[in-house]
Amino acid sequence: MDKVVRMCIGCRGRCLQSTLMRFQIKNFKVVKFSKIGRSLYICDTCLNTQQIKTKKMIQNRYKIDFKELIDLKERTANG
Ligand SMILES: [Zn+2]
Repeated sequence: MDKVVRMCIGCRGRCLQSTLMRFQIKNFKVVKFSKIGRSLYICDTCLNTQQIKTKKMIQNRYKIDFKELIDLKERTANG
């Protein structure tokens, strides 16, 4: 069983790695983790949040478009 715990960048909550979406930022773009370099995690709750505050915080901190996270999630889910 995967019991690795990672921190979500949105709520800073600690969740099982398997329940988080893993990604990385390359040239200010959100991309799927390539197994090289630093990766980040976000939980489903934050990904689906309607709170502008949370979205803005993530966008400002990581200099990314929140929508790209959702796009990546959808692409990952479709293989
Ligand atoms: Zn979260």
